[in-house]
Amino acid sequence: MQSEARQLSLEEIKAIADRVAKTPYNESEEGPIAFPDYNGASIWKGGFGDLPHKVGLPRKERPAMDTIADSALDFVGNTPMIRLSRMHKALDMPEGVEVLGKAEYYSAGGSVKDRIGLRMIEDAERSGQLKPGDVLIEPTSGNTGVGLCMAGAIKGYKVIITMPMKMSGEKLNMMKAFGADIYRTPTEAGWRDTDSHIALALRLQKAIPNSHILDQYKNPNNPLAHYDNTAEEILQQCGGSLDYCVLSAGTGGTLTGIARKLKEKVPHVKIVGVDPQGSILAVPDSLNDEDRLKSYQVEGIGYDFIPTVLDRDMVDHWVKSKDAESFKMARTLIKREGMMIGGSCGSAMVGVAKAIEQLGITKGRIVVLFPDHTRNYMSKFLDDDWMASKGFPLETF
Ligand code: PMP
Repeated sequence: MQSEARQLSLEEIKAIADRVAKTPYNESEEGPIAFPDYNGASIWKGGFGDLPHKVGLPRKERPAMDTIADSALDFVGNTPMIRLSRMHKALDMPEGVEVLGKAEYYSAGGSVKDRIGLRMIEDAERSGQLKPGDVLIEPTSGNTGVGLCMAGAIKGYKVIITMPMKMSGEKLNMMKAFGADIYRTPTEAGWRDTDSHIALALRLQKAIPNSHILDQYKNPNNPLAHYDNTAEEILQQCGGSLDYCVLSAGTGGTLTGIARKLKEKVPHVKIVGVDPQGSILAVPDSLNDEDRLKSYQVEGIGYDFIPTVLDRDMVDHWVKSKDAESFKMARTLIKREGMMIGGSCGSAMVGVAKAIEQLGITKGRIVVLFPDHTRNYMSKFLDDDWMASKGFPLETF
């Protein structure tokens, strides 16, 4: 954390950020970039015992609809679970299988990442790390950014986001409207490259006084938001009865937090992880051979490193998803179920279909988490011209 007596104006902060973002990194002037050592789930191996979760946070309830809420933040999380009986029919799934979709697009900011944006901020406030007027900087594929920007707008923090070019203009404009400054980085940059979104966030944090990177890739509040809330919601909605949970992985916080709680409460539950082709999160690593580290179009999932908050020991079976099948599945979900879901939801649904096939599932209840909203992709997979320009087929199931 940088500290300085005088609080800079928003214009002064922006001027520093603009200058850093425009200047190619020069080690002799700026010193080395202190990349965190994201080395898989090292902080989770010992279980939750050593973590801040010991003090625990009660599950947040949504205000009753016949009352008045204090702010939009009261509507983060507490998302519906919807029976996907039309998809079941369209995909000709086994009769004994029931598939339920947890629809995170109903959260206030439209994604599962609202939960961690708010949780990381509130934890930093509680610990005294974050003070009024401070600056939040976060490298993100967009949805954590939206969550942080929404909470920042309401609570009065300046937010600066670094985001690869690949991510949609819809996310960019949403964050700008919340008052944030966004800096784009090359999609091809590896995470430790000096022009990556992670490197730029670290350089900005060094240059801007009273600024913090809450760091979703290693912040325990990322998985804990899901351990304390998302998983509890799933258990309540299912009356404690489910057999499989299918979760896509970006930082892996959603997967780790939900999987840990579910495995504690429902020991027989099997966790299916979904990793896009091009990413290297899946185990065994040979699953990642096809198109290893090649770029792909689905946003928000997959990485070229193993985030600290991803505990891959939680996953019983990994499925790889491809762009074309993910978008086809997303468009099918919209058309058949009337659900306004995003592209990685298509990947998650591909995960359901492939898990049924690969594991020979003939009965049981499968819960699949749908991370975000079609809103983020109106000019992308929702647009027939964009689909055609990428060579993706338009037909649905
Ligand atoms: N889907 C989308 C669209 C996302 O933005 C994210 C977050 N990067 C995920 C899935 C995966 O969530 P997590 O980071 O918790 O693994």
